Formats: sequence, structure tokens, C-alpha cells
Amino acid sequence: LADTDLSEEDLLADPVAKAQESGGLPHPSIPLPIDLFEPVRGNSAGVDLNDRAVLADLAAKIARVPVLPAPAEADAGTLIGAAAAAAPAWASVSIDAQADVLDRLADLLEARREEAFALLVHEARKTLPDALAEVREAADFCRYYARQSRDLMQPVPLPGPTGETNVLRMLPRGVWAAVAPWNFPLAIFLGQVVAALVTGNTVVAKPAPQTPAIAAWAVALAREAGVPEGALQLLVGGAKAGHALVSDPRVAGVAFTGSVPTAKRIARALLADDDRPIVPLIAETGGINAMVVDSTALPEQVVRDIVTSAFRSAGQRCSALRLLLLQEDIADRTLEMLAGAMDALVVGDPAHPATDVGPVIDRAAYDKLMARRAEMAGRIVKTVAVPDSGLFVPPTVIRLDSLDQLDAEWFGPLLHVATWKTGELDDVIARVNAKGFGLTMGLHSRIARVAEAVESAAKVGNLYVNRSMIGAVVGSQPFGGEGLSGTGPKAGGPHYLARFCVERVTSTDT
Ligand code: GLU
Repeated sequence: LADTDLSEEDLLADPVAKAQESGGLPHPSIPLPIDLFEPVRGNSAGVDLNDRAVLADLAAKIARVPVLPAPAEADAGTLIGAAAAAAPAWASVSIDAQADVLDRLADLLEARREEAFALLVHEARKTLPDALAEVREAADFCRYYARQSRDLMQPVPLPGPTGETNVLRMLPRGVWAAVAPWNFPLAIFLGQVVAALVTGNTVVAKPAPQTPAIAAWAVALAREAGVPEGALQLLVGGAKAGHALVSDPRVAGVAFTGSVPTAKRIARALLADDDRPIVPLIAETGGINAMVVDSTALPEQVVRDIVTSAFRSAGQRCSALRLLLLQEDIADRTLEMLAGAMDALVVGDPAHPATDVGPVIDRAAYDKLMARRAEMAGRIVKTVAVPDSGLFVPPTVIRLDSLDQLDAEWFGPLLHVATWKTGELDDVIARVNAKGFGLTMGLHSRIARVAEAVESAAKVGNLYVNRSMIGAVVGSQPFGGEGLSGTGPKAGGPHYLARFCVERVTSTDT
């Protein structure tokens, strides 16, 4: 505990006992090397993600599942027209019956999960544990929003003087555009879709161009669960199709997850036509997500959480760790242990049960990440071997002299590291905030006072203390950021569905 910003009182007390007293943080140390990433939390659809035999059995099963061909591109205007025509009938279905459809969809997702795993592995290049976690998350979104809507959509009587009744009603807005990313082509795609449907809207859903087959499968499953044909339309295409969708004045709201420039283009398109009503945009974008580690943190736990946060899903999560901020006196030791842990990472075929890190999504992503790696070649302090062919970006640690050397989100397994000195923590958080993003932040410290200070200073949507900073669980960690990272409300949280509605109040004199 030398050279820390601990007070005398902290130094006198046993930090672990102190942390336990203050209600938090007693994680056991784990042995290195890391066998697999930190277990995914929450319900994993009955599958043990950390059992290699289970994964091997799954790999054999999904190899036999035929992968669907990608659906054909469609015309946005035609699909919006069809969704608009279906809106009155779907809006008149009872709240319970709409919610029941989502519960049925969750059951179907679980029953047909092997098909989903196969698509996620083959089309989105997900590892098996990531595919499992994604199906679980998709089912969680369905069940959570079903439950939320049964309350939210009920008329609410409001107070008034004698002789007056006031009733607040939540009503659908009409046709929603749901624009999803390739990195969660099932969970985020379906999360957006079912939120709009369960609030009585109809939907035109546009998957990312990289993952249309998963989307088509999910749409077919939603129809099987009871979503009427017209109420959910699938728009396959690229940026042009997306622009046509959000520019159409019949679209009454947009739920978007993707890049900052695309979010801004959507916001501009929504405002371009002076005659168009003002409609909501829910946007979840990226972040330059930092993890702050002080010298009281438990080293083994820190290393495990760094590896999980930076390299799981090949770093292709909005929540992923991009900038590791180590207190100077523990930096060398932490980086040495991190290097040891990284040597245990298996990079390779995502369908193989032993794989920890698969390829990145496409050639464009690969080229961009490899160019950054080449640009920072002189600063690389650790990297790992990857297969010769394929889009494998080696998990890489890049040491910075200054936080100014990282001003963009690198959406892959590149971890930038900087150090800070005792007394500089406030300044470090201020400099991370100043980058303008605000999605996730991690903190590893066993001092409650430090956690409180970071909690009040960090402008982020999701702060993770003494754990990994990915894998938000629906209903437990509502997910989404602020600033350049998005608008909210948070997906998987109690306020999400309200944004899909208009609120109407009727006041009557009796
Ligand atoms: N919700 C995901 C997580 O917590 C990230 C979502 C995203 O990448 O857009 O890891």
C-alpha cells in the first residue's frame, strides 16, 4: 500500500475488512492464468457457459443447423406503408395480449436457441459463450418489457377537485423505425422491436447490413409468437435504405444503436422537413470507456476484469474497455500480470469451443484496427499470436504518454493504457469526461471514498465498480450513455418504454 492516496485512517485499517464493512467489494482472488472470461451473469438459458464439454456439444449441434440465406433488399416506403396500415389493428389489441406475444417470443427463443447460436456464430462471428449470452439477453428483453408494459400502459387516474376526473393514458405513436447494430444482431435488434411493439406501435426494423439473416430469423420467430404480419416489417439494406426510412414523415420515432456519425445523421434527417412532426430519437452510440485502477485494487481480479472488458467479443461492444488508467506505482506489475493472462487467450474460429476471441466483423473493421495498430507500433507493450488467415486482430496493449493520444473509439481488441500519479485522480476523470463520451466506466479500488468520488465526478451512463464493465443485464444494469454516447432512455431499464408512447390526459367535469 505504499504511495497511495489512502488517508492515515485507511492505512491503519485492513482495507478488505473496511471494504466489507462499507457494504461492498469482497471479491475472492482468482488464480491466473485465466481459463475463460469472467462468467456471464444472469440467466444463461440453462447452459453453463464455462463448461467446455457443454460448449463442445453445442458446437457439434450448431454445425448441423442450416444457415439461412440473407433476405432480399426491400423498399423503405413500401414497408412503412404496410406498417402504417397495420397500426390501428395492432394498437387495438389488449395490453395483456400484446405482452403475452413477447412472453411467447422469449419461450420460442429459448426453445429454438440452437438455430440462433448457429446464426450468431456463422453470420456475426460470435464465440459460443457470446452467442449464448446474446440469446439470453434477447429473451430477457422480451420478458422484461412484457412485464413493464402491463403496468405502464394502464390508464392512471390523477387527482383533481371534487367533480373533476383526470386520466393519463399512454398510447402508441404509430410506426417506429428500429435501426440495429451488427454487434448484437439478435438482442439489440429484438430489444428495439419488442419495445415498440409492446407499446402498441408497428415497426420497420432495419438490421445492420452485415447481419440480415439473423434479423430475418428473429422476425419469423416474432410472427410465430403472434406478431401480426403487417406489424413488423424487415428492411434489409445499407445507409441509403436507412436514410429513406428515417426521412419518411410517416415514421413517428427512431430507436438506434450504432455510431455517433450515424446518430447525428438520423437526428438531422428527423429535423430536415419543416412540416414533419417532432419525433423522438433514442440513440445508443459508442464511448472511449475508461477503467481507473488504484493501488488498493486486488491485482488478480483487476487483470481478469481488464481481459474480459477489453477483449471479450474481440472488443466489439459499445461498453468495452478502451482506456486503462493505472495508478503509477502498480502499473508495471499490473501490465506484467495482464501480459501473462493474455498469453492464455485463445484467438481463433468462433465456432470452436475453446475460442476466447474470434475475428472482427468484416474487412473494413479489420483494416481500420490494423492501421491503428501500425500507427502505434512503437507503443505496443503486449500482443498475442493469432491465426495466419482470417480477420483476426491480435488483442493488443498500447501504452500512451498522454490521454491526448486517444481521441477516437477503436471498436476492437486494442487496449490503450496510461498512468496517473497519487493526487491526480480528479484531473484524470475530468479529462476522460472532456472527451465528450459518457457510456461506461470501470473503477477498481477498495476505498469506499474513492468509489464515491468517482461516482459523483464521472459523467457516464454505467459505472462498474470492482467488476468487469461489459455484459449489462436487462433489468439490473439498464444500459446507455450520455453526451456523445447517446440520448437514453436506457435499454432494459424502467423508463425505456415510455419514450415509445404519447401521453394523453383527459379531464372531465362530472
Ligand atoms: N449492453 C452491452 C454490454 O453491456 C453492450 C451493447 C453494445 O455494444 O451496444 O456489454
